Amino acid sequence: MKPNSHDKKAPENPPIPQSEVDVVFDFIVCGAGSSGSVVAARLAENENASVLLLEAGGDDAAETVTNPAQWPLNLGSVRDWGFVGQPAPGLDGRRLPLSMGKGLGGGSSINVMVWARGHKGDWDYFAAEAGDDAWGYQSILGYYRRIEDWQGAPDPARRGVGGPAYVAQPQAPQPIAGALLSAASTIGIPVYDSPNGEMMEGPGGASIAELRIRDGKRESVFGSYVRPLMSRPNLTVLTDVLVTRLIFDGKRVTGVEVLIDAQRHQFTARCETVLSLGAINTPKLLMQSGIGPEDELQAHGIPVVQHLPGVGRNHQDHLAFGCTWAYRKPEAVGGSGCEAKLYWKTDSRLAQPDILQCQLEFAVPSPIETGLETPQHGWTMFSGLAQPKSRGRLRLSGPNINDPILIEPNSLSAPEDMAAALAAVELCRELGNSDAFSPLVTDEAAPGGRDRSGMIDFIRRSAVTYWHQSCTAKMGRDSMSVVDSELKVYGIDGLRIADSSIMPRITTGNTMAPCVVIGERAADLIRATHSLPNLSGGLA
Ligand SMILES: Cc1cc2nc3c(=O)[nH]c(=O)nc-3n(C[C@H](O)[C@H](O)[C@H](O)COP(=O)(O)OP(=O)(O)OC[C@H]3O[C@@H](n4cnc5c(N)ncnc54)[C@H](O)[C@@H]3O)c2cc1C
Repeated sequence: MKPNSHDKKAPENPPIPQSEVDVVFDFIVCGAGSSGSVVAARLAENENASVLLLEAGGDDAAETVTNPAQWPLNLGSVRDWGFVGQPAPGLDGRRLPLSMGKGLGGGSSINVMVWARGHKGDWDYFAAEAGDDAWGYQSILGYYRRIEDWQGAPDPARRGVGGPAYVAQPQAPQPIAGALLSAASTIGIPVYDSPNGEMMEGPGGASIAELRIRDGKRESVFGSYVRPLMSRPNLTVLTDVLVTRLIFDGKRVTGVEVLIDAQRHQFTARCETVLSLGAINTPKLLMQSGIGPEDELQAHGIPVVQHLPGVGRNHQDHLAFGCTWAYRKPEAVGGSGCEAKLYWKTDSRLAQPDILQCQLEFAVPSPIETGLETPQHGWTMFSGLAQPKSRGRLRLSGPNINDPILIEPNSLSAPEDMAAALAAVELCRELGNSDAFSPLVTDEAAPGGRDRSGMIDFIRRSAVTYWHQSCTAKMGRDSMSVVDSELKVYGIDGLRIADSSIMPRITTGNTMAPCVVIGERAADLIRATHSLPNLSGGLA
């Protein structure tokens, strides 16, 4: 493999015309988000591998990205794809805004910065579905030891230090975070020093959150992995490049077609192309390139390259129901505004937590359909479902990149989800109305006491997304699986997927950290295939 020799576009620089960029690379990684940034950086660590990282959005040089408190300002901005779900019967016909990050770092540049590694049971489920223990919890602990630069109490069996991902807890969390831990402990929910590690091997608990904030600034995955390598001649990062289609030679992917300033161009991959476009745009690109359910493709006149009925199916997301209390007096907001977390079970017989609660230190307005007033000063618990049973799907509206994808989240369609939602809100109210909060809050603003049918109304009308869309090109071995345990697309050569779409089931908790693991696994598998040395230090 010969390194490319060309002027490289750093994100700080203005766009350069495509004629100045070599068009043949060893590896093309599409999407510079939480997974794609890892794949590109790990491959580019090998000087003999030329790597092209393509990103549709722009750079990440903005106060709204770097300042942790400003993350909500990115919603609906140019840094957000601005997806909106189709009307969901389980939400009284409401359409959910489904933001996703656009630009260097993807979701990791606009998200709430919470570091949540998934439950032991999630990874063991991945391994069982994939038929490969390398996806199991014991193996994934090795990945986390490699990934993390953990700033908390040493836990050498589980935590890493010196890795690319700086992870820390707030040094002085706001009093409201301490109140949550006290309230949890008074009703028998264990309180842990960390929400990762041991807490995610059992029934759950409450803890101060771990965040990707360093010296008061956001650390995106792009910033941690790719930016340190930007001066390498074998790495090219291009922003404002929309990947529109895969290019095939028979059933082998040989590169991608892209739009740059509305002009079509092509890039060729000598070895492999990796799709890391996220759980909506990865299946969209697959389908519009001819990989997906043949009836869906034929309905839009797309020639079928590979019939894979699972593309765009199995859509999963975490829903949250905002329970809000008014503060006695205005309180400060720490970090990203989320400093405490709680995972618990609705039924002690469950194998792992099915309730996910993130405490927000400001009052989040309820959707207008609830008819509820938001206090000027207050706090909101995002009381949500950690293991939803409802499954959605994606449909094409046409064959072209500009034809919007139709997202049917199907939220709360499974009866088990409503039962879990009722239990989650009940637990949240028990905590929020307990004595531990009395010094800080006055009244409960949402949902307030209601009978069962009133509470069901509240749940349907208040539900919002945690922005964790995933599982739409799942890894597995059944007929609905899209990739195998090596993340290779079934029936196609030269193509892997590395992003949240490969999850067989959504992880218990926020999804960024598992996407970093997916990126690391993809890089290991690609390096092994192409006999590239592993320079990441192996699995500790
Ligand atoms: C508002 C918000 C808050 C969140 N909060 C948290 C949190 O606190 N903690 C947490 O763990 N998770 C959080 N998440 C979720 C987390 O950020 C995502 O799960 C994660 O980033 C997904 O990683 P990914 O690699 O699958 O996709 P992404 O990170 O979304 O990356 C996909 C990239 O591909 C690019 N792309 C897409 N289509 C194209 C195309 N056609 N051509 C070129 N490029 C393209 C996108 O612009 C994007 O940069 C949040 C997400 C959002 C949106």
